[in-house]
Amino acid sequence: MTGQGEDSGDIMEVDGQWMQVALAEARRAAAQGEVPVGAVLVAGGVAVAAAGNAPISLNDPTAHAEILALRQAAARLGNYRLPEATLYVTLEPCAMCMGAMLQARVARLVYGADDPKSGAARSLYTLGEDPRLNHRIVVVRGLMAEECGNLLKEFFRRRRQAGGGPGGPF
Ligand SMILES: [Zn+2]
Repeated sequence: MTGQGEDSGDIMEVDGQWMQVALAEARRAAAQGEVPVGAVLVAGGVAVAAAGNAPISLNDPTAHAEILALRQAAARLGNYRLPEATLYVTLEPCAMCMGAMLQARVARLVYGADDPKSGAARSLYTLGEDPRLNHRIVVVRGLMAEECGNLLKEFFRRRRQAGGGPGGPF
């Protein structure tokens, strides 16, 4: 018989592996000059979609990593609802992305760094667990937060040094 502790340890290990995939997407986004945020959507133990933040390259203000991953996953699965899915993302999602996850009925969200300036899972709003809404999302925060946050810090530090664009939340 496996104990409770072992079970949650296994889950954490699996979560960590998926967060590494999200981090790889974030690094890819950074290489394109995008704010480094990456997401991967997992259903039935497999990655159905993965994406990096791309609003600048796509000229699309909605092209956050989470939205792109949700769109890819829904298209691939042929279903606009993803009730078995876990979305892993390196940064706490904004209100738009939390809204999209609620629409998709995503079961679980695992994110890395908190976003004190636009986070809507915990920092500014708690849209995953608002009793007025008709869906709840289980939220796990802070997984590999330091690694996820450092990627953003480094990106904004370099951008400031280069004299381009305004700073981000870090
Ligand atoms: Zn977003």
